[in-house]
Amino acid sequence: MTEKITEPSRQTPVLALADVLVVGGGPAGISAAIGAADAGASVIIAERYGFLGGIPAICNMEPSSWCRQKDTVMPGGVQALLEQKMLACGAAEKPLFEPSASYNYDTETLKFVIDELLEEHHITPIYHCLVTEPYMEDDSMKGVFTESKSGRQAILAKRVIDCTGDADIAAQCGAPFEKCSLGGDEKENMMYGTLIFGASNVNVPKVRENLKEHPEMLDRIRHEFISDGFSKARENHYPIPPHGFQNQIIFNRMTQGEVTAINRVRVPVDGNDVLSLTEAEILSRKEALDTLELLRRYEPGFEEACLRHFAAAVGIRETRRIVGDYQLTMEDITGERQFDDSVGVYPVCMDGPKICRAALTGAHFQIPYRIMLPQGIENLLVAGRPVSATKDATHTTRGVDFCMITGQAAGIASALSIQKKVPVRDISIDLLQKNLQQQGVQVF
Ligand SMILES: Cc1cc2nc3c(=O)[nH]c(=O)nc-3n(C[C@H](O)[C@H](O)[C@H](O)COP(=O)(O)OP(=O)(O)OC[C@H]3O[C@@H](n4cnc5c(N)ncnc54)[C@H](O)[C@@H]3O)c2cc1C
Repeated sequence: MTEKITEPSRQTPVLALADVLVVGGGPAGISAAIGAADAGASVIIAERYGFLGGIPAICNMEPSSWCRQKDTVMPGGVQALLEQKMLACGAAEKPLFEPSASYNYDTETLKFVIDELLEEHHITPIYHCLVTEPYMEDDSMKGVFTESKSGRQAILAKRVIDCTGDADIAAQCGAPFEKCSLGGDEKENMMYGTLIFGASNVNVPKVRENLKEHPEMLDRIRHEFISDGFSKARENHYPIPPHGFQNQIIFNRMTQGEVTAINRVRVPVDGNDVLSLTEAEILSRKEALDTLELLRRYEPGFEEACLRHFAAAVGIRETRRIVGDYQLTMEDITGERQFDDSVGVYPVCMDGPKICRAALTGAHFQIPYRIMLPQGIENLLVAGRPVSATKDATHTTRGVDFCMITGQAAGIASALSIQKKVPVRDISIDLLQKNLQQQGVQVF
């Protein structure tokens, strides 16, 4: 549809004011909020759903640090803080995939733990609040417009951090970005979306028994569960549902009688397009139920399995990436590059459709501050999945822990730029690095 209408102009009520506004409460957003608050700023975090946590909480994505092994160099900071809290609540457990040094989170308790973290750090959350547009004066961000059950309102802030996962705000400001297409070639194709779902009434001891007998079913590098049900289905000429892995499912946690998050569905989806998202949700639910039927027929332990739940929404792996003051490349990652404006270290690991590398050694690179600075816009930082990186580098930069470090750095940078009365581009890198270290981040 290309038809357009003109909206009448109107007066918009201001809902709230803060030093720093964080838009989107995923891994990057919560880290940005904590980073800014701990550096002395008043902080609001606006989130479109009724809880924080982003993909891990929306999509029941349990293994945030799946790549982590014994020798992995981790960045620390909010990621480590959250992990301690989850462990203290009994909501983090070791995965099936020994010798991984990661934890799987109970993604429902995660929502509660993040509420508590926010309260402890004096951050104001605003839930059920979709941020729709930037409010700008010339090239400078002054706040945002929101839509919610309260109608259209504005939130004003001295600095805004776009943690929407999609660079929604930066794109609306006119900042340059790159985005792959659906159905392009391998290099240019946007990654598939996934609706995770859970199964109840599973005979968990039988699943464990089968795993013991067939240890080859656990792919220790990819953390995938190679299901023998798929080969049995194939032998019996049972049609494998087409929109997902053809030989395996991924799951990480089993409770009594439940496999809490099954990751198999792969659907084409443009996460910036409401009609594409609608199609993806509908297609995914069918695919998930067809998967469950296959498991019921052919996977030992799943004979009586029932649908436990669908995740709250289809999970989006990739949309926009800003073109920032620097673009991180795969060569920077594999070459373990160091940067003068490092905001944290990150292990050399990757997770893409054709590439998978866990952090089996201590190899690591440094993350430059400039990947968070959108070109041509003042008072705005972008953290998380859409930071400035080449397509192939996103197999590393989309990792939850990577997103958290960029968030924490953007939060501190915003607070410092207000205190020092300088644009975010002109803050002292030395001061930023010192603040990051004080907040427990390994910068070098
Ligand atoms: C199915 C799936 C499995 C994955 N598995 C792994 C894995 O095993 N390990 C790993 O490290 N990574 C994994 N990832 C990748 C990882 O989850 C994401 O890259 C990461 O969560 C991105 O963090 P983020 O904070 O940038 O964005 P998100 O997690 O997407 O969070 C963005 C937040 O912003 C909110 N938001 C968006 N737009 C607006 C708006 N306009 N107004 C208000 N709020 C808004 C969203 O609701 C959301 O809460 C997986 C991703 C998917 C989809």
